[in-house]
Amino acid sequence: MHLETPAPFDLIIIGAGPAGCAAAIRAAQLRPERASRVLLLDGARFPRVKVCGGGIVRRGDYLLRRLGVDLHVHSTPIDAGTFVFPSGTVTLRRPGMFRVVRREEFDDALLHFAQARGVQVRQGTPVLDLQLSPEGVLVSTPQERFRATVVIGADGANGLTRKVAISGRPRLSMVGLETFTRPTLPELIPRQRRTAVFDFTCVGAGIQGYAWDFPAGEEQSPLVNRGVFHTHFGGRPSRMNLKSYLLGSLHERNIEVAPEQIKGHPAHMYDPSVPCSAPHLLLAGDAIGIEPLLGEGISSALETGIMAAETAVRALRSGDYSFSRYSDDVRASHRMRSVRLKRAVAERFYTGQPRWWALVGTVGVTAAYLRASQSWDGLRGMTGVGSVSAQQQHRDNAG
Ligand SMILES: Cc1cc2nc3c(=O)[nH]c(=O)nc-3n(C[C@H](O)[C@H](O)[C@H](O)COP(=O)(O)OP(=O)(O)OC[C@H]3O[C@@H](n4cnc5c(N)ncnc54)[C@H](O)[C@@H]3O)c2cc1C
Repeated sequence: MHLETPAPFDLIIIGAGPAGCAAAIRAAQLRPERASRVLLLDGARFPRVKVCGGGIVRRGDYLLRRLGVDLHVHSTPIDAGTFVFPSGTVTLRRPGMFRVVRREEFDDALLHFAQARGVQVRQGTPVLDLQLSPEGVLVSTPQERFRATVVIGADGANGLTRKVAISGRPRLSMVGLETFTRPTLPELIPRQRRTAVFDFTCVGAGIQGYAWDFPAGEEQSPLVNRGVFHTHFGGRPSRMNLKSYLLGSLHERNIEVAPEQIKGHPAHMYDPSVPCSAPHLLLAGDAIGIEPLLGEGISSALETGIMAAETAVRALRSGDYSFSRYSDDVRASHRMRSVRLKRAVAERFYTGQPRWWALVGTVGVTAAYLRASQSWDGLRGMTGVGSVSAQQQHRDNAG
């Protein structure tokens, strides 16, 4: 039997990955007195498995700090990146370049943090259908139907909300595969335990992406997350069998992995021409898309989750739920400007002549650009998109 909640939620967030949790935490931060009118739904029960390298860049940690999030989960600090190209190898050293977490642990802790901020959480509640109307959104799950004024779709690359927002079946343009193994002997050297490897020699083998080795796990039980990413840049999709490639390249290094230990997950490359909203609906995270140069999506998910929450709160105050400017705001954000640059460089790099300095330079320039934008964000609100003025916030708290 379907039950319908009598009062609509202000906001329902579908998907409790980094995008959904960031949206929930930001919404509760902006309107703590209405946090219980925010519902965060996920089809899975946490801790749930998530196929991901778990690399969190500095921008991600900056956003977590701005959200007031302090999670006690284990992470492996990375102080150097070794970039392997057909023409040679470059190692860049920078303490705290990024860190590697286990996603099942990190996402579980983030979800609990959001819940502790007063938002309602339902796990094991997959959304089956979404109906948009001028009054709001009807969200159907096997257990219940919920009504909301605004929905944030943070249900990942394969989710339902992106299909609703762009009215069709979007083609998935990226795929990543990964596995965990024990480190090899050289990888146990303390310096190597803090070095991540990005290997682009597979570009010559027809892969439009790279293979990685990220140190992970705890000191007593060290692991390495190893994987490969591929993006289809137009034309005929590659027939490269990624799984065979990963198994073969690991075998060449005497690292034996059973085929069933390799897990995969798709992704969308961010496309500025694809809408990321509809009336009463905003997308965030992988539902919008990620950058195809390194496939770094966690900090992007946090950032677009925050943007979506700020935009939703602004709409709840103004009563305008058309979200007609959201796609433009996302496109013009510092984050998506850097993603667009990475996309242009990735296309040249992965389909033409790989020039190492173009890739390393772009990674450095975009990181510096986002760092510089942090002081600007401080002036305009957390992401500079859909920011909420102190005056508005005061009015809201008073009312
Ligand atoms: C192999 C691989 C390696 C990667 N490595 C990295 C890395 O090292 N660093 C990095 O920054 N990024 C990495 N990424 C990308 C990163 O994993 C994603 O960008 C990030 O998880 C996106 O977060 P999200 O919250 O948008 O979506 P997700 O983390 O995918 O969360 C979506 C949530 O929605 C839920 N959901 C889906 N459908 C429904 C439904 N109908 N109803 C209810 N709930 C639903 C799911 O259960 C899930 O919990 C990698 C990706 C892959 C594939």
